[in-house]
Amino acid sequence: MKNKEANSAISGKGDSFGTLLIHNGHETDPVTGALGTAIIQTSTFDQGDLSEEREFDYARSGNPTRKALEETIALLEGGEKAYAFGSGIAAVSSCLGIFSAGDHIIAAEDIYGGSRRILNTFYKRWGMELTAVDTTDSENIRRAVKSNTKALLLETPSNPLLKITDLKTCLDFARDAGLISIVDNTFMTPYFQRPIELGADIVVHSATKFLGGHSDVISGLAVTRTAELGDKVYAVQNGFGAVPGPWDCWLILRGIKTLKVRLDAQQASAIKIARYLSTHKNVEAVYYPGLDNHPGKTIHDAQSTGPGAVLSFKTKSAEHALRFLGQTRLAASAVSLGGVETIASYPVRMSHASVPVEERRRLGITDSLIRISVGLEADDDLIEDFNHALE
Ligand SMILES: *Cc1c(COP(=O)(O)O)cnc(C)c1O
Repeated sequence: MKNKEANSAISGKGDSFGTLLIHNGHETDPVTGALGTAIIQTSTFDQGDLSEEREFDYARSGNPTRKALEETIALLEGGEKAYAFGSGIAAVSSCLGIFSAGDHIIAAEDIYGGSRRILNTFYKRWGMELTAVDTTDSENIRRAVKSNTKALLLETPSNPLLKITDLKTCLDFARDAGLISIVDNTFMTPYFQRPIELGADIVVHSATKFLGGHSDVISGLAVTRTAELGDKVYAVQNGFGAVPGPWDCWLILRGIKTLKVRLDAQQASAIKIARYLSTHKNVEAVYYPGLDNHPGKTIHDAQSTGPGAVLSFKTKSAEHALRFLGQTRLAASAVSLGGVETIASYPVRMSHASVPVEERRRLGITDSLIRISVGLEADDDLIEDFNHALE
């Protein structure tokens, strides 16, 4: 029911989300009638005798294939404007590019490691200030606000421990305090969670993950609630120039068409696997918002329509974890997530290797922790494989 209401809210005419993935204004090429969007592989566009201003002039500033992707994600997230980038981190850094020296940003302490790194290095060097807090308690955000605070950067569920932040409460607070709120919605995608409807100003994505969905392209997206904010992000997109090529945009567009069926299947398997792991004698803890014992489940259920396809778990020791990674036959031991292939990653040596050991320990990211992005393999095969790898 909730899904249905949210779905009609985004389309305005009652088309459900699954239909919008296929019929969103870009299902046929207006010139040839071809099904799908044309890949316009060009760097520049003929301007004729210059008597009229044409929509496209240079492909850093705009490209029709990229425009189709940008309009599609704006529709799906319920924003006014969207901009595509050469990677997820390019989307994040370009959105941060709208701020100025002297501005203070509050971010969740467990945002994507690369986002934290650019804030602690480049943006710090350019005069911006970061305070990282545990946003699972919104009071921590309130306490961190200073006179120069300009933005709030959130991510929920977080990585790799799937902690839940109450979006509505935090985004309401940001609006009242005059902060621009940015939500990284990579783990959920607009199928499960639409932060703009909950009050976010900007939604960012690593489209490399679920939106692309096939582990074959690096890309990023930013969607803005308002056209004014969109103009600011566009100035950075065009000015910094971290744009994706048309082939990459086309791959994300193709991936988006199957987002719902992929996520439905991957989530169903993830639920089954999380339950299975919870009962295994060599598993100490399972972190997944689809489990009844997850501390953030009530909040997550209220702000999203599903727990998604990423979970993590702690084995008995580092040796157990490394043996699991070596023994699993179906899961790739790799960074990244959101593809059709199941991926097992080892945060202490991969995504969180650059986080100091004491900080990792404080956050609960131990050397016995494994993160799983559940793919499209048969769930029984995955469980049998994991069973073997855990022995
Ligand atoms: C992967 C990821 C990013 C970075 O995206 P890239 O496409 O690798 O640059 C940002 N946020 C989250 C949550 C991610 O998982």
